[in-house]
Amino acid sequence: MASVASEAAVKGGAWLVDETSPDRVMTPEKVTEEHEMIRQTAAEFIKGEVVPAHERLEQKDWKLLRELVKKCGALGLFGTNIPETYGGVDLDKISTLVVSEEVSHHASFGATFGAQANLTILPLYMFGTEAQRTKYLPGLISGEAVGAYCLSESGAGSDALSAKTRAVRQPDGSFVLSGEKMWITNGGFADVFIVFAKVDGEQFTAFIVERAWPGVTSGKEEHKLGLHGSSTTPLILQDVKVPADAVLGEIGKGHKVAFNVLNFGRFKLGAMCSGGAKASIGEAVKYAATRKQFGVPIATFGAIKHKLGEMTAREYALESMLFRTAGLIDQRIAATPDKKKDDGTPMLQALEEFAVEASIAKVLGSETVDYIIDENLQIHGGNGFVHDYPAEGHYRDARVNRIFEGTNEINRLLIPGMLMKKALKGELPLLAAAKKLQDEIMSPSMSLPDDAEGVLVAEGRACGAFKKVVLMIAGTAMQTYGTKLEQEQEVLSYLADILIETYASESAVLRAQDAAGTKQPNVDLHVDAARICVSESAGRIELAARSCLAAMAEGDVLRTQLAALRRLLKVTPANTVVMRRRLADATVAKGGYVF
Ligand SMILES: Cc1cc2nc3c(=O)[nH]c(=O)nc-3n(C[C@H](O)[C@H](O)[C@H](O)COP(=O)(O)OP(=O)(O)OC[C@H]3O[C@@H](n4cnc5c(N)ncnc54)[C@H](O)[C@@H]3O)c2cc1C
Repeated sequence: MASVASEAAVKGGAWLVDETSPDRVMTPEKVTEEHEMIRQTAAEFIKGEVVPAHERLEQKDWKLLRELVKKCGALGLFGTNIPETYGGVDLDKISTLVVSEEVSHHASFGATFGAQANLTILPLYMFGTEAQRTKYLPGLISGEAVGAYCLSESGAGSDALSAKTRAVRQPDGSFVLSGEKMWITNGGFADVFIVFAKVDGEQFTAFIVERAWPGVTSGKEEHKLGLHGSSTTPLILQDVKVPADAVLGEIGKGHKVAFNVLNFGRFKLGAMCSGGAKASIGEAVKYAATRKQFGVPIATFGAIKHKLGEMTAREYALESMLFRTAGLIDQRIAATPDKKKDDGTPMLQALEEFAVEASIAKVLGSETVDYIIDENLQIHGGNGFVHDYPAEGHYRDARVNRIFEGTNEINRLLIPGMLMKKALKGELPLLAAAKKLQDEIMSPSMSLPDDAEGVLVAEGRACGAFKKVVLMIAGTAMQTYGTKLEQEQEVLSYLADILIETYASESAVLRAQDAAGTKQPNVDLHVDAARICVSESAGRIELAARSCLAAMAEGDVLRTQLAALRRLLKVTPANTVVMRRRLADATVAKGGYVF
């Protein structure tokens, strides 16, 4: 990377109060040859081995799927974050990001991959004892063994800690597990399961369970809307005797395992969505360039250009945000003093630090890919609705992204909730910033933007204004509701939307500014994409903020707040029509996502 961020910049959520310089931000343009090599390895594997097996996978040929898992393991793709001691290849988070993007080009295999790499290998590495790591990691990383993660139950989904699966402690220190886990990815054929159960009905704990142990069985395959090429079954545990050394982490600390795993899982899910979105843009543009109506390719129509341009701009923001976040996580890990070889703690701490950004990645990723996949289907017209074209399959496969790894509703509640906790603990100076803003709003000479010149200066300023809107809404909400704020889910969800728009827009602007600074060949397109993001975000942020304020105040107080909001959000609309047309034309010329 071009430079290393300051200590303050490697804190999760710090972007909300700090100014970031473009050259300090990781972008897709800064990937190294090593990143490109691992990307190519993943891309060739998916294109060459997995995609041709699509029909057999859809028919649930799990023998073939296991062979593919083995091939994937042999290429090193499961162990990008794991030290060589355990069979991994120990690369940075950017490598994991690019691998996730490529693997998602086959959604079902992506689900299998995610359950193995993110949900089984990672918790074993981060929480396993040396003996557990040595026993399980090499087999899982090589793909010889398959793993699954068993948190959900029929009555305990979002409220995972209310699980009913029991672990009864035995006099010899072992446990007997009974219960039924639901919707388990890789459930039909996995060998190793991370299972969450309550010790003596109370202490939520993670266990490592092997299929070979008596009493472990899989239920029937679920008939799903999509992801037909991935296995989803219940896991039934009938009086399974589990040795004492199969506890993963500590007894009663299962929530630490569960939530930390989800932190990274969410980030990687965002990356997978980004990969799927890019592939869909490619499909859309190829179809639009060849399908003729009224004697011309449909790609020449303004309405279709609007779609292609908007799809590109939204993906640009998502991609910018993901690379920025991966860069921050890598910097945080690298900045850990006295890092010991094979120690998973720095990674664990870094993932915890960036839990807010991981939730943002999950929500923005899953909603961006759904938008893009929906527009891809629309561009295909009737052909989009029939099985002969892949668009309908993508549409079905992608829908679950808003549901698993914490539903988007739950993640929206977490985003402001976690930030406010950081503020109250004094880890982020949000309260001071909110107070300063309040004084500024009250003063008649509220500071107005200066007239500095440069690339995307107005957009950079707009992002500064978005942050002030976050502080204004969060401050008002805390004052209005106090400790009862967590019951105000609608306000929190609006606030999450404003935060997501802000982080994504700023990431897009910083990337485009950096592209200008480093003289990237297609800098004009970077600038177009970033300007579209900011312009559209401004509208959505204003709407969300107005709805929030109206929920919290009325009469003169509301009028004063709305006036302050208008002064803060003075964003002149850009001619996004012409920008989208340019992006669309460039996309057609390239035959795919243009960045
Ligand atoms: C294909 C697939 C694969 C899966 N793989 C796995 C896996 O490998 N391992 C695993 O453990 N699980 C897995 N899951 C389960 C998945 O994680 C859960 O479905 C998810 O967490 C939601 O739980 P639920 O289905 O019980 O929905 P519920 O929790 O019942 O939620 C229903 C609705 O209510 C909302 N809601 C719930 N609580 C709140 C609240 N407090 N505030 C506001 N809204 C709320 C939700 O957002 C949702 O819209 C998988 C699911 C699917 C479909």
